[in-house]
Amino acid sequence: AKQQGRNNYQLYTPALGARALERLVLENRLYKALEREEFLLHYQPQVNLITGQIVGMEALIRWNSSDLGFISPYQFIPLAEETGLICPIGEWVLRTACAQNRLWQSQGLPQFRIAVNLSARQFQQNNLLKIIDQILAETGLEPYFLELEITESIAMQDVDLTISVLRKLQNMGIQISMDDFGTGYSSLSYLKHFPLDTLKIDRSFIRDLMRNPHDAAIVKAIMALGHGLNLKVIAEGVETPEQLEFLRSVECDGLQGYLFSPPVAAQAATEIIKNGKLN
Ligand code: C2E
Ligand code: CA
Ligand code: CA
Ligand code: CA
Repeated sequence: AKQQGRNNYQLYTPALGARALERLVLENRLYKALEREEFLLHYQPQVNLITGQIVGMEALIRWNSSDLGFISPYQFIPLAEETGLICPIGEWVLRTACAQNRLWQSQGLPQFRIAVNLSARQFQQNNLLKIIDQILAETGLEPYFLELEITESIAMQDVDLTISVLRKLQNMGIQISMDDFGTGYSSLSYLKHFPLDTLKIDRSFIRDLMRNPHDAAIVKAIMALGHGLNLKVIAEGVETPEQLEFLRSVECDGLQGYLFSPPVAAQAATEIIKNGKLN
């Protein structure tokens, strides 16, 4: 099949190039994905390391394209970002995630925040606050139960803008977390100016935690930094009990990862919320 694929590509290479063609096809399908209702959200729990309780659910988008099958967000989010499609897609994610959390609340389940990833374009959109305000009003979700995740690279693009937008969000009562922390370029001097609630230690530091003393040192340093700035610190990509024990020993506040649960569809998430607790 691989051989055949290569031959197929060669047909087009002279004119357009396989990668360019692939991109064009993807982009074309992406334009239609919203109206075709091909997106859905999966949810991954975040648990408190002391109480074991679910304190959050991160909403992660899934795209099941009718003609291409499942496509990873690592593949289509950058494309959506480049084309600007991320704004309507991101708005759909926000609305769906807020509505889902409100639905869980209305079922009398224990309450937690819903975390939604923001992209750079969305963050720079001048009507972002209006959109969020409207979605909260529409769904009836209290702002306290919404958390927005931004990355260091988004935050550092325009530091003054970041500070002003984050302040407004925080004034609305929304929680903010810095995603993938440690992989970007946010200088420590800026970090203290960003109104944040949580640092999420990037998975790349957790992955080799038990084998690589440098990673362990970095995780400890991020813990000290975060707690020193009065932030909560949570670890992403936690897969093993050994990693969990390490994180407990350095007083990490929470974890997200396959150890507790992978991201799952809404219905499976509901079961986890009903039964789930970390030991
Ligand atoms: P992220 O925000 O860092 O999300 C965490 C990613 O790590 C998710 O990948 C999740 O499935 C995966 N993960 C969680 N726990 C584990 C673990 O224990 N081990 C391993 N190996 N992986 C784990 P996913 O869902 O494929 O999403 C990839 C990225 O796509 C996200 O990284 C985020 O940057 C972006 N993304 C996903 N949904 C959205 C969205 O709605 N909006 C925007 N703007 N970006 C999104
Ligand atoms: Ca995230
Ligand atoms: Ca992350
Ligand atoms: Ca990450």
